[in-house]
Amino acid sequence: GDSLRKRKIAVLGARSVGKSSLVVQFIENHFVESYYPTIESTFSKSVKHNSIEYECEVIDTAGQDEYSILNSKHAIGIHGYVLVYSVTSRNSFEMIQIIYDKIVDFCGVQEIPCVIVGSKIDLQSRSSSRQVDPSEGEKLAKQNKAAWVETSAKNNVNVSKVFESCLAEIEKRSPSNQAE
Ligand code: GDP
Repeated sequence: GDSLRKRKIAVLGARSVGKSSLVVQFIENHFVESYYPTIESTFSKSVKHNSIEYECEVIDTAGQDEYSILNSKHAIGIHGYVLVYSVTSRNSFEMIQIIYDKIVDFCGVQEIPCVIVGSKIDLQSRSSSRQVDPSEGEKLAKQNKAAWVETSAKNNVNVSKVFESCLAEIEKRSPSNQAE
């Protein structure tokens, strides 16, 4: 078919790791210094990946903690996940595996198309503000068969790469471009 292929991507992670900033930078190409805490918003953007045009619907969530129950809206009909921690917060990094496990549990699968994102790398040069090493992020991603990217929404570093990698993870598991 030649219609746009729709892909729903949910962005999850602890509060204030920069989920909204990442999504807004991707969709609207600017950085908002203080953004109202999100309840939940959905954004849409078309993205070309492997010369196929995708209509990405990006769901920016309010944020989760260890006690949150996974919202079924964040599992049913979702094609791929962006799980965000801040490289300046060890606690937010530890949330990633908890959220990942909740999703696979809910979906009853072994793995999900997923990109793990270490955000706010522009803050790393300030002494002692980095709490999570790149090697730890990489290792966590490998263990969960996920992609991994470090970003700065503020400086627009690797922001579009997050969503391209997510599409790649989705297509890897269910190719939409099979030979006809
Ligand atoms: P959310 O609750 O996960 O959606 O987080 P927000 O996007 O609202 O961001 C929380 C705070 O972190 C805000 O004050 C943002 O300005 C800040 N922030 C988000 N991304 C970055 C980044 O890449 N670099 C820096 N320095 N600050 C960021």
